[in-house]
Amino acid sequence: MATILLTNDDGYFSEGLIALREALSSLGRVIVVAPDRNLSGVGHSLTFTMPLRMRQVEKDFYVVVDGTPADCVHLGYRVILEGKKPDLVCAGINKGPNLAEDITYSGTVSAAMEGCILGIPSVAFSAFGREDFLFEDIAHWCVKVARKILERGIPENTYLNVNVPNLRRDEIKGIKITRQGKRNYREKVFRYTSPYGEVLYWIAAEEFGWEGEEDTDYGAVREGYVSVTPLHMDLTNYAVMEALSFLKE
Ligand code: MN
Repeated sequence: MATILLTNDDGYFSEGLIALREALSSLGRVIVVAPDRNLSGVGHSLTFTMPLRMRQVEKDFYVVVDGTPADCVHLGYRVILEGKKPDLVCAGINKGPNLAEDITYSGTVSAAMEGCILGIPSVAFSAFGREDFLFEDIAHWCVKVARKILERGIPENTYLNVNVPNLRRDEIKGIKITRQGKRNYREKVFRYTSPYGEVLYWIAAEEFGWEGEEDTDYGAVREGYVSVTPLHMDLTNYAVMEALSFLKE
């Protein structure tokens, strides 16, 4: 029976996490270790500067107080599983997409990245939509991907970023292997005044938008396909190493 370590960045109460937990349980033992609140955008942050507390909510379900998604993967692996590698690390289902450059901010994708660093097959699942999420239908496709990974494995030093269109399961056309796309929206800074006269700022995107070449993550979900993008850790831009040799002169 497979052991699956599941986390997210939306918090332990998120419907996306609950739906994925339920669906993945058909594949084996699912152990949830999740943050105590919404930490979307926390990226790959690992908590070094303070101790963490873990609370058991029910059997195989733990909450890390003040813990990031990367913390949760660490504590799940090192503490709950006592250093025994699970067969799969899953993160999600995130409420909203993780496409293009956004993956660098994503706690969901970073949880899978952490699993990859620990040498465990890892996959991040996100829902391409903004509201009225059909998590049971989306989870159906997540499990399809997870089952195949458990059967066949994935190449070393690779983790997967999976985005599923927010559609009914039979409306989803299939799975496409894609490349990371590009976004074309910017965050805006909204300015508010508190009841006490203090000026406050809120960074947020008003509307989403991505460049839609067909072979990209966005290109696939826009057309109703599940997007699977293989990612790796090495950010080196090999193509320009030679062009920078003037710096040594
Ligand atoms: Mn999130």
